[in-house]
Amino acid sequence: MKVGILALQGAFIEHANTLINLGVEPILIRNSEDLKNIDGLILPGGESTAIGKLLIDLHLLSPIKNLIEQGLPVFGTCAGMILLAKNLSNDSREHLGTMDITVKRNAYGRQNDSFSTREGFKNIDSKVEMVFIRAPYIESVGPNVEVLAKVDSNIVAAREKNMLVTSFHPELTSDLNVHKYFLDIIKEVR
Ligand code: GLN
Repeated sequence: MKVGILALQGAFIEHANTLINLGVEPILIRNSEDLKNIDGLILPGGESTAIGKLLIDLHLLSPIKNLIEQGLPVFGTCAGMILLAKNLSNDSREHLGTMDITVKRNAYGRQNDSFSTREGFKNIDSKVEMVFIRAPYIESVGPNVEVLAKVDSNIVAAREKNMLVTSFHPELTSDLNVHKYFLDIIKEVR
């Protein structure tokens, strides 16, 4: 199995290391040629405005949007979740806009308000360590979206068909379970 990781800006190396720990070959994606022959795609955290601009400049936005609409499994963490959202409640931008969720950017405040916690996650037996860095959360979901995790009353993980998103950064912890869950989605969808 080959899993692509968008490698324009942000925490892509950490995702690559997590995949290697799971015995999966990571493919760093920097142009549309790199998108050939991948079974899934990770959109990392970082700065969504910067990544969104680079997606346009490098002619990656439409090819990635098309692949997701054709069913390519995709996992967006933090900024990656913002890229996938159809609606942003506090920003007029839309990037890939494939997932029926409304996301609030920087919902937990500034960089100083970053934190970590352990919470339950649907379909994962143990509690998951969740690291939030200037994180967004999901304010509302469409009818086909399954909520997977909440912190307090806010939605921090969800799935719609081939799309998985988390507000937090599982790649910054030693807990491999959320990535394993994504690999299961790839096996199920492909
Ligand atoms: N605050 C960032 C944004 O709006 C996301 C932060 C992150 O990915 N850790 O794009």
